[in-house]
Amino acid sequence: MASKYVYFFGSGKAEGEAGMKGLLGGKGANLAEMTNIGLPVPPGFTVSTEVCTYYYNNKKKYPKDLEKQVKVALQGIEKLVGGKFGDERNPLLVSVRSGARASMPGMMDTILNLGLNDSTIEGLIRKTGTERFAWDSYRRFVQMYGDVVLGLKPQHKDETDPFEEIIEQVKQERGIRLDTELTTGDLRELVRRFKQTIRDRLKIDFPSDPYEQLWGAVGAVFGSWMNDRAVAYRKMNDIPANWGTAVNVQAMVFGNMGDDSGSGVAFTRDAATGENVFYGEYLLNAQGEDVVSGARTPEPISQLAKDSPKMYQQLERVRRILEKHYSEMLDIEFTIQQGKLYMLQCRVGKRTAFAAIKIAVDMVGEKLISEREALRRIEPEQLNQLLRPVFDSDEKKKAVEEGRLLAKGLNAGPGAACGRVVFNAPDAEEWRLRGERVILTRIETSPEDIKGMDAAEGIVTGRGGATSHAALVARQMGKVCVAGCSALNIDYVRREMRVGDRIVKEGDYISIDGSTGEVLLGQVQTKPSEVLQVLLDRTLDPKDAPVYQQYAKLMRWADKYRRLKVRTNADQPDQASTAIAFGAEGIGLCRTEHMFFGEGKIGPMREMILADTVDQRRKALEKLLPLQRKDFEGIFDAMDGRPVTIRTIDPPLHEFVPHEEPAQRELAAQMGISFEKVRDRVNSLHEFNPMLGFRGCRLGIVYPEITEMQARAIFQAACNVQRNGSKVKPEIMIPLVGNLKELDHQAAIVRRVAEEVMREEKMKIPYLVGTMIEVPRGALTADEIAEVAEFFSFGTNDLTQTTLGVSRDDSGRFLIPYVEMEIYRKDPFEALDRSGVGELMKIAVAKGRTKRPELKIGICGEHGGEPSSVEFCHQIGQDYVSCSPFRVPIARLAAARAALSEDATEDKNSKKRKKSKKKGKK
Ligand code: PEP
Ligand code: MG
Repeated sequence: MASKYVYFFGSGKAEGEAGMKGLLGGKGANLAEMTNIGLPVPPGFTVSTEVCTYYYNNKKKYPKDLEKQVKVALQGIEKLVGGKFGDERNPLLVSVRSGARASMPGMMDTILNLGLNDSTIEGLIRKTGTERFAWDSYRRFVQMYGDVVLGLKPQHKDETDPFEEIIEQVKQERGIRLDTELTTGDLRELVRRFKQTIRDRLKIDFPSDPYEQLWGAVGAVFGSWMNDRAVAYRKMNDIPANWGTAVNVQAMVFGNMGDDSGSGVAFTRDAATGENVFYGEYLLNAQGEDVVSGARTPEPISQLAKDSPKMYQQLERVRRILEKHYSEMLDIEFTIQQGKLYMLQCRVGKRTAFAAIKIAVDMVGEKLISEREALRRIEPEQLNQLLRPVFDSDEKKKAVEEGRLLAKGLNAGPGAACGRVVFNAPDAEEWRLRGERVILTRIETSPEDIKGMDAAEGIVTGRGGATSHAALVARQMGKVCVAGCSALNIDYVRREMRVGDRIVKEGDYISIDGSTGEVLLGQVQTKPSEVLQVLLDRTLDPKDAPVYQQYAKLMRWADKYRRLKVRTNADQPDQASTAIAFGAEGIGLCRTEHMFFGEGKIGPMREMILADTVDQRRKALEKLLPLQRKDFEGIFDAMDGRPVTIRTIDPPLHEFVPHEEPAQRELAAQMGISFEKVRDRVNSLHEFNPMLGFRGCRLGIVYPEITEMQARAIFQAACNVQRNGSKVKPEIMIPLVGNLKELDHQAAIVRRVAEEVMREEKMKIPYLVGTMIEVPRGALTADEIAEVAEFFSFGTNDLTQTTLGVSRDDSGRFLIPYVEMEIYRKDPFEALDRSGVGELMKIAVAKGRTKRPELKIGICGEHGGEPSSVEFCHQIGQDYVSCSPFRVPIARLAAARAALSEDATEDKNSKKRKKSKKKGKK
């Protein structure tokens, strides 16, 4: 049987459905679904993503049967709408759109009115009776086709669009301002000039054969899958190249057929705040492209309710049906043709983190989704946006009073950003690389600008609405964005913008408030977000903080479903308190060496390092003891009975000593020894490969008195805090262990000192001694190590370094190209390398627990706060993850999602098992 490449939809029945996104792309699958549930969708068909894969695997050729299947499907459309493709009297016109599994702004989007030529236009005029409309459709088609299929577009960043240039010329010649003022004659002239420009510049004639047009458009869709922007977008969003895109061909409906027609895009709830209101824009007498391109600033959808209640009611009905059917907030595209509504697209709507959380929490309240589903819908990284700064309102008020409010646009991406103005995307990238914070300011943005938008702190556009490209992409990236700020007169060539007589030049500072849409001159101070004001500053009552309330609910649900505990990496009491406010359940890594840089400690530390004899070293350590003890008391107090993992000294000693002559002289004077001696001793500490050198437990083994002092400080502090009525649970962790004997040596010291201190203080402190697993030998001999270790904590920073043989300090130069070439899918220091480092972790877990089944296992490398790594830690049966304080909420949510996805797999497997049992019985 021939393979099926084309899937038809129309008149209440479709060959596809929403679950077929892999094959039909998101757009195709949802068009099929909307058809199936009886919504008004113009008939059409989807060419599957398999054709795209075939196309790239077979030197850009199509499968044999495709042409036939497309013809049959076209006939199916013809039958339903009563027209014929290419017919001079009654032409069928179609739209051609790309549609990958995930929506991709970098790809070709839409070609409308395909099928028009100098003959079929006559038929369209006859059929619709409106000559102006027909010519408007024709000029749009030539313009779109010329741009996206034939590639006639700006070649340089300062250049304007060649077709727009011609439109401007004609408008100037005719002394008019608006597109709607163009007469039929003007539009006909535009078509002529467009075609002439194509001939002059590209040396080809605009294709008049509708089939040639169709296959050109299909080829352009598949071609766009591999263009630079699409490739860049896929990288940024982790979309595999082998997914491919589908092509959707659909009968045209016209929003530009007069004032009872129009086009719009909308979200079923507010995509910026999450409020349960219809949120979107429309333009009367216009095609969809006009709304999203930002060429005209559209009206808010609430206006439609006033202008045309009948049209609005149809839309409102569709909104209700869709939300109920999908249990989701959706993003829809629609066209109204002479009073009748048609749906052209629906997909899960992109939203800010604020909106995502509010919608998920609200939908649980509305019984549309479960708590579990709400958790699945929030990407852990989105929580970052809730923790982002806002402007200090006094500072902003002052700026406004000083007359620094430059303009106001739409509040398209919330948050506060401040930076220097740049006017194009390559500059944004370049300036960012120089370390500048920039605000990318464009008349409107296009997919070409994606990398620049990513580099910017915030984005401002002069044209376009809340659903324009800039607004959508900014929200998805979590960028602050003010869109459609029409007061700004932006001049790319002079690199400046004007508002009245005020001029802002490239490089000037501006501040933008993406929550109110304000653009201010100069720098405005920012301040912590609502969640931080409640949790950390305690300046806001949770009652008055709706965003905080939603955050808190979500976190409560996350805690209910997660199995992994979440700890924090902290070595100062204030960090510990912050982490607790974010929900940390203990400290997973206290790097004691950070404490040595604190007040009064670096001096004795240096004395200790430069000491010649054990006696000298002990003297220096005696000075350090009370200081360390105080540090630990602070930490134990802040953690209030929660477990605290304290690691003995780890970094190479040369990191603590001065390398410049003046500082060395000062140290020599302090210590009463010669400068030369200090210098020589410092030089002797030099190592070629310090990260593999004299560090970790090797320090405590060669200088056991250091471990002794640290253990004494820990247990004395524990006794002091416990004596004051608080509980303490110290867990002493030995770093860089690769051999049981190393741990044995260090653990013996810790245990001896613990017993001594407890005896002296006449107290009992429950404690554990464990180890980091951060070298491969440690993982491979984990069964031996577990004889002594009461817990393991994976130091995946070092374990990645030592497993991959990649220096964690020097890898930037090649890791960036490595990731670009997909040798590693992600930077392995950021997201755990599951098949390498992860395998060693699995071995360590399995071997460790064979010896000690109750062995507690955690992670304290940077991966402990990265969602996909947290998921892996869950999967291999760890007990906890530990991460920096601000990532604690992210880890909590990631842990819950990991637990839920495991449940989902179990559900599926048990269903499968049940099915196969039934089969077996038969
Ligand atoms: C690690 O190696 O993962 C770790 C947590 O230790 P450090 O980063 O201090 O070497
Ligand atoms: Mg380490």
